[in-house]
Amino acid sequence: MEFTSFDQMDLSEEVMRALDKMGMKTPTSVQKQAIPLMMDNRCVIAKAPTGTGKTFAFGIPILEYLNMDANFVQALILCPTRELALQICTELRGLGAFIKGLKICGIIGGQKMDKQVQMLKKAPQIVVATPGRLLDHVTRRNIDISQIYTLVLDEADKMLDMGFIKDIRKIMKLTPQDKQIAMFSATMSREVMDITWEYMEGADEIEVAPKEEDMPKIHQYLLHLEEREKMPAFARIMKKYNCHRVMAFCNTKTRVRIVTEGIRKLGFKVDCLHGDIGQGARNRIMEDFRKGKFNILVATDVAARGIDVSDIDTVFNFEVPNENEYYLHRIGRTGRAGREGQAFTFINYSQSIRMDDILHYTKVATEELKLDEE
Ligand code: ADP
Ligand code: MG
Repeated sequence: MEFTSFDQMDLSEEVMRALDKMGMKTPTSVQKQAIPLMMDNRCVIAKAPTGTGKTFAFGIPILEYLNMDANFVQALILCPTRELALQICTELRGLGAFIKGLKICGIIGGQKMDKQVQMLKKAPQIVVATPGRLLDHVTRRNIDISQIYTLVLDEADKMLDMGFIKDIRKIMKLTPQDKQIAMFSATMSREVMDITWEYMEGADEIEVAPKEEDMPKIHQYLLHLEEREKMPAFARIMKKYNCHRVMAFCNTKTRVRIVTEGIRKLGFKVDCLHGDIGQGARNRIMEDFRKGKFNILVATDVAARGIDVSDIDTVFNFEVPNENEYYLHRIGRTGRAGREGQAFTFINYSQSIRMDDILHYTKVATEELKLDEE
């Protein structure tokens, strides 16, 4: 049966109230497919692009199945980055706002261990964690994951890209053999397939094609520019295309620094994220960006992983990304939650071939833009 609204899914009053409060009536495609399967205790392998609502696709069934009388960890959600873990915690706390006694704990690196130990002592039912830090706590016996019902691997492709495979194997061993596993991934890489073969035999597979109705509407513009033309072009586009909340991508840390400085000199409020920035500073920068203290965030691909700021209207690619997939990840920062977005990619002479390759691979619709002829 195909569900067209949350009403038909037989959800608890608490969850329905939270969805209603958030203004969500219609499940996204991945939610329509994953929620009934997960509520039926099936293992699920879901391939879906960014921004399609994966968090609630696993969040809703988990909340529906919690045993509020038990005081052990029942659901464990693994994800690749700290930002993403915190974001999932926030989203799930919103979804569970009306469930009395619900405790969700984030276990992430770069935060004080003892603070996390205090939170774990309060017996959360749900733990959202990055794999490395979770294992630290397991080793120190701060947490018992041997009784969980559900294990979620969110952004599995990125977790595996980031070298978490060994940690994931350990976690598989430390959790019950008959647990429900739900894996979410934007791509089905070789490594992702390996995990599914090893641990998820007989799972149901779901695929949300990028062409479906919940694919974000992003107007993609390509501009052929020399290096020295990029900053003036950026300034003109900012004004002409009403860009308010902006992410700008570069391929390297050095370029991030240079571009950030250039944008600052134009008089915009800007900050940046890259690999050399410590965790404390990263959290502060993300917080300030969310609050609108500055409106342009410049980042490398790695630093931007998993970031979800829902109202980004414009993405700039100061350079063509080195990986085809990165192009989709970058532009996927905009056009979220049914909003429209726009993306501008600056291509210099030597990067044309790279861009052709990306277009061939991603099959997205783009438009060439020449600023001078307008
Ligand atoms: P993904 O994990 O697939 O990238 P998210 O779960 O982060 O996507 O969801 C992207 C955005 O869409 C979030 O801001 C979320 O609150 C919103 N969203 C999720 N489900 C729905 C829905 N059914 N209706 C409207 N908005 C939704
Ligand atoms: Mg997600």
